[in-house]
Amino acid sequence: MASQARGKVTIDINECKGCGLCVAACPPKCLELEDGLNSYGVHPAHYLGVDCTGCGICFYTCPEPGAITVYRMSPPPKAVITTTEERNAPAH
Ligand code: SF4
Ligand code: SF4
Repeated sequence: MASQARGKVTIDINECKGCGLCVAACPPKCLELEDGLNSYGVHPAHYLGVDCTGCGICFYTCPEPGAITVYRMSPPPKAVITTTEERNAPAH
């Protein structure tokens, strides 16, 4: 079962210089270099769309300011299980 994504990244392909540092550094290996070329004539990085943890390592590895933006997802609220007695207890 796939785990819920904890993050995602967007890559501005026209800021990317295709160095591949982010691809090598990403722990879950969810980045790759595209087959196509950008306006610099290099293969830009691309997010595969799954498994990003929002760790930010690609952002700190990238030498091009503004090429990568990392988004961290809010965790879903945790279920709280209460007993009937707790529900019926008077509020303090
Ligand atoms: S934030 Fe972390 S997991 Fe997500 S693409 Fe960047 S290096 Fe990979
Ligand atoms: S580290 Fe930055 S410049 Fe290098 S491939 Fe990744 S996004 Fe592009």
